[in-house]
Amino acid sequence: MAATPHIPANNEALDAAERVPSAADLDTLSRQLGRPVRDVAEIGARCVCGNPLVATTAPRLSSGIPFPTTYYLTHPVITAAVSRLEAAGEMMGMSERLAADPDLAAAYRAAHEHYLAVRDAIGARTGVGPVPEIAGISAGGMPTRVKCLHVLVGHSLAAGPGVNPLGDEALEKISEWWTKDRCYCAGAWDTTGEAPNRDRSRHVKTQAGDPAEKKRARAAARAALAAGQPAGESAGESAQGRDGGIA
Ligand SMILES: [Zn+2]
Repeated sequence: MAATPHIPANNEALDAAERVPSAADLDTLSRQLGRPVRDVAEIGARCVCGNPLVATTAPRLSSGIPFPTTYYLTHPVITAAVSRLEAAGEMMGMSERLAADPDLAAAYRAAHEHYLAVRDAIGARTGVGPVPEIAGISAGGMPTRVKCLHVLVGHSLAAGPGVNPLGDEALEKISEWWTKDRCYCAGAWDTTGEAPNRDRSRHVKTQAGDPAEKKRARAAARAALAAGQPAGESAGESAQGRDGGIA
């Protein structure tokens, strides 16, 4: 059996200053994901233009819940490309090769060890400290299986090449759609209006039971009815658009 090669935990693509998330980074992450991001500790990898590719989460959330998945792919172009690989059955072939190739298995185990070590380091530098609940548990199926290529690619991008062999391989296989030497950000997410933030959750809460909102919705429905349109959301919207013209 091949010996597990050792990869130092400080094998990270970005240096300490580059990892610090700015307010603009958090805004971009929310736009990329289409929802407000929470508990982002660092940026794990960046586009050549500087935009985040990977969000790094500390091993314990602010709510106290242990969180084993350190790296999350956020760039829509990469996540879509990796989803295509998964849909094409790539993980099954990788799992079979892991079982048959001791050198690959050893390199993948080393990637698992690196993941754990760097997660400990992130826990230490974010003040979270050790998280015994998830000790020895990494993500993506490591160390012996392949269950999520997004996790492996996120790890490869955050660690740099030569750390996660299957993440590196997946990156190679998506090169038709994304490569690290080019910017694919233009048009990849909605940059108009406000980023998803607390305003959205307030909106949801409002819809759930705010009396003023209900009154407004009823008024819109009545207006739509008066205008001869079927009641419903689209009717409400068009009634809103004609405020003043009806009634
Ligand atoms: Zn870019």
